[in-house]
Amino acid sequence: MTLHDLTVAQLETKLRQKEVSALETAQYFLARGAMHEKLGAYLAIDAEVTLAQARAADRRISAGESAPLLGVPIAHKDIFVTRDFPSTAGSRMLQDYRSPFDASVVARLGHGAPGQGPGAGAVTLGKLNCDEFAMGSSNENSAYRPARNPWDTSRIPGGSSGGSAVAVAARLAPAATGTDTGGSIRQPASFCGITGIKPTYGRASRYGMIAFASSLDQAGPLAHTAQDCALLLSAMCGADPERDSTSLDMPAEDFTRSLGDSLEGLRIGVPREFFGEGLASGVRAAIDAALAEYRKLGARLVEISLPRTELSIPVYYIIAPAEASSNLSRFDGVKFGHRASHYGDLLDMYKKTRAEGFGDEVKRRIMIGTYVLSHGYYDAYYLQAQKIRRMIADDFQQAFRSCDVIAGPVAPTVAWKIGEHGNDPLADYLADIFTLPASLAGLPGMSVPCGFGEGHMPVGLQLIGNYFGEAKLLNAAHRFQQATDFHLRRPEGV
Ligand code: GLN
Repeated sequence: MTLHDLTVAQLETKLRQKEVSALETAQYFLARGAMHEKLGAYLAIDAEVTLAQARAADRRISAGESAPLLGVPIAHKDIFVTRDFPSTAGSRMLQDYRSPFDASVVARLGHGAPGQGPGAGAVTLGKLNCDEFAMGSSNENSAYRPARNPWDTSRIPGGSSGGSAVAVAARLAPAATGTDTGGSIRQPASFCGITGIKPTYGRASRYGMIAFASSLDQAGPLAHTAQDCALLLSAMCGADPERDSTSLDMPAEDFTRSLGDSLEGLRIGVPREFFGEGLASGVRAAIDAALAEYRKLGARLVEISLPRTELSIPVYYIIAPAEASSNLSRFDGVKFGHRASHYGDLLDMYKKTRAEGFGDEVKRRIMIGTYVLSHGYYDAYYLQAQKIRRMIADDFQQAFRSCDVIAGPVAPTVAWKIGEHGNDPLADYLADIFTLPASLAGLPGMSVPCGFGEGHMPVGLQLIGNYFGEAKLLNAAHRFQQATDFHLRRPEGV
């Protein structure tokens, strides 16, 4: 078995038992990254930094130290700031930007930080491609390069955590971090045939995660198995009261603890609204088969309704741009990032800097967001959207009275062709319909590989849990993966 066939759990065991060193492992994955450079997974690599971290991990292993991911190489979405690598958020605005500190999630997974504990000991392979400021569904909004789906390189990998999904699916990294504001972990995981989870809002610290829409942004892992996701998520989550006031004051949790529990009697809610017009027949067939598998595993299917599913699109595309317009006001050419080289007065400097630094989609969101927050429109749009957001969250609570977990498709279709949506942003927005509701409600959601649809492209089953139901979700996914092998399939040439 070669190193890239191993799960994080298997790799960690081999490292701990000194069957392979962290240095060899890091070198191996760096070489694979270079070999598959054309997939566009990475925005930054720095072999010296990675190898130095690997050597440090080897020293800790030799000293008999233990940490949950000691020496395991992972890569980070380039929306997390890192001290040792550039942090661009996929934007020209932050080209070559270097952060003076590591994001809390990066510190927790890696070598720790004051107030963050000792760290899980993972080694960083580099920074991964993403849509600019995490705005997008295809990775085509990256200011640097598209990322390609390893299952069919003429197709998008999904977004905004596209590079993360590509890196894992193409075995360039055993696991990666991502962020999910409206589906950006679940949708690329689904499109690339891997597993990903977004925890309950507030579980993971947002400190050092370059902000898109602060009331929605959450970090989470992408990996091959639910077990690996559980391992990474356990390291990533935890209160960070000094640095993120919205991080939940809850003790760290071991999300692997209930892996293996029986699904006998588990009530799986199947929302009627997730199976209407627009759902591709190949996706539907894969989801139906997955639900049948769950029945075999002892679960009971209950029909439920999430009546405001369609409204989640206008609601999200008001709230997210509103928050984005406010968050992105910090990029003014003064504090950090790009500054126009030729300008007249201060106002002209702001204008030129922002015109040059931001891409089209980001500008579109800033304009929409500024509009819906402006005097006279605030009540008509922003406030209304906030009210409906609350109703969407209430609909879930109503649904969870009759079920324990909700299941349905992650997306209405498989990954589309690069360029297929052309200059039609609405086509992208509409494809977010099934991931947005859980985001707006702040609920945990995951994507589990469950088959293949149109063009023999991967399909992901979405599992949505109630608040703090991550362990239950991960176990439901784990049991499914013990009974199926979709998560082990790999694209040709990988
Ligand atoms: N596709 C959605 C958007 O463009 C979600 C992005 C995300 O989750 N970061 O906003």
